[in-house]
Amino acid sequence: MLDMDGTILDLAFDNFLWLHHVPERYAEEHGVDPEEARKRLYAKFEEMMGQLQWYCLDHWSDFLKLDVAEIHRDLNERIGYLPGAEEFLKTLAEHELRVIMVTNSHLEVLDIKDEVTGVKAHFDHIYSSHSFGQPKERQEFWHALREAEDFDPATTLFVDDTHRVLDSAKDYGVEMLLEVSHPDTSAEPRESGNYVTIRRLGEMLDR
Ligand SMILES: [Mg+2]
Repeated sequence: MLDMDGTILDLAFDNFLWLHHVPERYAEEHGVDPEEARKRLYAKFEEMMGQLQWYCLDHWSDFLKLDVAEIHRDLNERIGYLPGAEEFLKTLAEHELRVIMVTNSHLEVLDIKDEVTGVKAHFDHIYSSHSFGQPKERQEFWHALREAEDFDPATTLFVDDTHRVLDSAKDYGVEMLLEVSHPDTSAEPRESGNYVTIRRLGEMLDR
């Protein structure tokens, strides 16, 4: 089970879009000072993090009064795989493994990213938390996922770059957890946390 953003695809796209581009567009659109716009939006991001609405495009379009899907399309040349991730997925396909994507990404964003990368084709199945109405950070998500996909928590590997998501999977009983510590190539790697850590999925190919 693999996360998408920050595990397979470079989080540099999302961070640029949300932390730089959206506040600028918001400032233009609403005639606010850019610094004020950043402050206002960062506070809102902080408040929303980890909730399903944080990942919901409609919520943000409504709140920001900006077409956030269109902004994703405008910037789509910045969408890309993390180094080695696509090779890793191709290698998985050579083995008899069931490979599923487990993402908090909104389905429309997933489609925009798939148009650029073709990422969906690498998976046997894709589960977005939006279909379950609960983000991966919540136990309800894992119960719903288990209903939909009869996985064994003892023999399933789950890879993600977000601590709170890994903690939630662990609480549910997923035993094999792997943390990606360099989800954004435009930033430094993160401090590794409580899990077995790799900088990126591609490293697994060398082991
Ligand atoms: Mg992620």
